[in-house]
Amino acid sequence: MGRYFVTTAIPYVNGKPHVGHALELVETDAFARYLRARGDEVRCQTGTDDNALKNVQGAEAEGITPTEYVERVAARFISLREPLGLAFDDFIKTSSDPRHRPGVEKLWAACAERGDFYRKSYAGLYCVGCELFYSPDELVDGRCPEHGTVPDLVEESNWFFRLSRYQDQLHELISSDRLRIEPATRKREVLSFIEAGLEDFSASRSMSRARGWGIPVPGDPDQVIYVWFDALGNYITAPGYGNDDASFQHWWNDSDARVHVIGKGIIRFHAVYWPAMLLSAGVRLPDTIFVHEYLTADGMKISKSAGNAEDPADIVAAFNTDALRWWMLRDVARSGDTDYTTERLITRANEDLANNIGNLVNRTVSMVKRYRDGVIPPVAADNAGAAALRAAREQAPATIDAAFTAFDFRRAAEAVTAIGNEGNRYVEAARPWDLAKAERKEGASPAALDAVLAELVATCRDLAAHLTPFLPDAAPRIAAQCGDGGPRVADPAPVFPRLEAAAPA
Ligand SMILES: [Zn+2]
Repeated sequence: MGRYFVTTAIPYVNGKPHVGHALELVETDAFARYLRARGDEVRCQTGTDDNALKNVQGAEAEGITPTEYVERVAARFISLREPLGLAFDDFIKTSSDPRHRPGVEKLWAACAERGDFYRKSYAGLYCVGCELFYSPDELVDGRCPEHGTVPDLVEESNWFFRLSRYQDQLHELISSDRLRIEPATRKREVLSFIEAGLEDFSASRSMSRARGWGIPVPGDPDQVIYVWFDALGNYITAPGYGNDDASFQHWWNDSDARVHVIGKGIIRFHAVYWPAMLLSAGVRLPDTIFVHEYLTADGMKISKSAGNAEDPADIVAAFNTDALRWWMLRDVARSGDTDYTTERLITRANEDLANNIGNLVNRTVSMVKRYRDGVIPPVAADNAGAAALRAAREQAPATIDAAFTAFDFRRAAEAVTAIGNEGNRYVEAARPWDLAKAERKEGASPAALDAVLAELVATCRDLAAHLTPFLPDAAPRIAAQCGDGGPRVADPAPVFPRLEAAAPA
């Protein structure tokens, strides 16, 4: 049994959360649930990045205060908890959480103590959306590669962080996998970024450009700590850095693994800036960064202007939590963007959940009810007819464990559906209805049908256990149908509804 500290990135969002945000929450939640089910001690956290300049701009545009604005954004994210079936242990709001500011100040002071800040005048092209200076050759037709917007020319005197000092150390940590970056294509991307040469980055902003929003630089109140320096700090301030030493010791320093789940657009901050800041401050590093790809919607990048930024809560209201979670974990590719469409969600839910797993559970429970009055027979030691099914069940735990360890949710989900497929094949081959007829009409021994039914109940119970990280709502329903480990099944009831395309609104 290990101890895991697992995080999502903390987004700042101009508008409602969309399926792209939901993907990261669901992936992280499934990973944490898997570890918990395996018996590990897990703390899983998410939150919102409040101190970004974009929040100030968003608030101004709506004529409200930044505090009101970030509270509303956070409320929208917190409200995803129920529709997405999330079980996070902690939610940090960086502007108002009393744990955050003292921790960030301590982090800054530790880097300053190390001699890693110096003052410099700088002019550069700044994307407010990314909160990042771009060099002209990184832009695409003069525009931010992430946002497609023209960056602002910004000139000011700031505190710079000596990132260049950590170039060799970072390269060594990442190439040796002591700081593991998954998948391997992203590891190579980070290594080549480091090999191109790391430049010191501006770690503060003038108070006037930040409009007075953010954490002032300790000892220099005319400057505000750069929002990324501040935001990345959430990973240690929430578990207790600078505010609760015992908690920080438990969840960060003494954990077996510290895992960050992030989107590909912010890899540089997490795989380069962040570990360098921790090295400077003398704080233990994360050990794994999993980088997910993006979702597109109907073939297009998801954005408010494209009108395809569908609210995940609306999708769940139209279908259900199981269908959305299952699509995200079962269909989204580990490399390359995946297109979200309603049709894909419906198809996947009907094929895997209603027709495969749901059908197996329903026919199993119905047959035990009909042929054995609900009493589950004991599993037969030998059952030659069930060899393929038993093989799928025996292989599944190792496959699922390896897949989760590699953040390959799709492969883990496939191992679960493989059990369902074999289970349904077994029913067709064993023909329990013929065995029941033979008992009734020819007085055949009940042993053959007992063996089949027992095998199927055991299979459905396995499915419930394996589905727990994927479908926290449905897994207990399946277990309950199969008698929750007791001697009798429940009355049969469909576990998964068949989904139909929603009528156009
Ligand atoms: Zn940008």
